[in-house]
Amino acid sequence: MKTFHNPHHAGHAGQQEMFRGRMVPCHEVPARLDFVLAELQRRPLGTLTPPAVDAAALDTAIARVHDARYLAFLATAWDDWVAMDPANAQRDALPSVWPLANRHGFRNDVLPHNFAARLGLFSFDSGSPLTAGTWAAARGGAACALAAAQAVAGGDRSAFALSRPPGHHAGPDFLGGYCFLNNAAIAAQALRDAGHAKVAVLDVDYHHGNGTQTIFYERADVLTVSLHGDPATEYPFFLGHADERGAGAGTGFNLNLPLPRGTGVQAWRAALDTALRAVSDFGADALVVPLGLDTFEGDPISGFTLQTGDYAAVGAALAGAGLPTVFTFEGGYAVDEVGTNAVNLLEGFQRAA
Ligand SMILES: [Zn+2]
Repeated sequence: MKTFHNPHHAGHAGQQEMFRGRMVPCHEVPARLDFVLAELQRRPLGTLTPPAVDAAALDTAIARVHDARYLAFLATAWDDWVAMDPANAQRDALPSVWPLANRHGFRNDVLPHNFAARLGLFSFDSGSPLTAGTWAAARGGAACALAAAQAVAGGDRSAFALSRPPGHHAGPDFLGGYCFLNNAAIAAQALRDAGHAKVAVLDVDYHHGNGTQTIFYERADVLTVSLHGDPATEYPFFLGHADERGAGAGTGFNLNLPLPRGTGVQAWRAALDTALRAVSDFGADALVVPLGLDTFEGDPISGFTLQTGDYAAVGAALAGAGLPTVFTFEGGYAVDEVGTNAVNLLEGFQRAA
């Protein structure tokens, strides 16, 4: 399994996030990726390189799943933030006002001149700091996703896009949940564009992959499946319920498997089996796995109880789908264990594939 790692990831290093009325240190830190990289160097699965993709091809791949207005916002967001106040150069950009899109007549069609308002227009939480290096890091992650998709479309059994910030909470025109560009969606679309007729996305992060669901919600050619903490109590709260089955042509092509906080490996694995059956019934010819390791018992912001020793079997179960597979790196905030848990899963996949 080739791994494409993002050389620009450390440029995205938020200082603090807003959590229930106070500023707390960011959970999504550069060390997360460094631990996975170190473990892959200790237990190699294949080549470990930065992505080498054409810049124009990358722009095209990103624009296939994200809106032009949002991408233009992201590209200049840091400069616009500092232009508001030169002292902002020392502070991360976080939103503090939102338009409640689609509710009560608040307008989201008019682009505000005020950057603080624009930041709110394109965000759904205040836990995702935007920093000087965010855009370069996010683009680097998209490049990893594209390179991984190209490797798999070219015949590789699997590939791993190892990047941060993560991506599965980012939608066509919004950031949130530490995510800016949706790497899993970029990989899925790139696989479609390379000729795979039916692509399934099976999200195993603790949190619902709301961004990916939104991007593909009205499409029948990409099945989105997510098993996650029940949004009635767990982030991202406002999406991820079992009755969200897709819309329009996409009706029946989204499957959510919410599980109660505290769920252990046995019930989680049963949900994974249900998810894999849906992938099989769909007739997918390629698979994208947004790989979050925040299902781990020691995760500081999540609530399942999987153990380090469980992940190899999860990888083997995913390999059982028998599909060319792209993994993207998503959550996992027990920093000391995230490398071991990620490589356990990937190694389990590779052994069984
Ligand atoms: Zn997560």
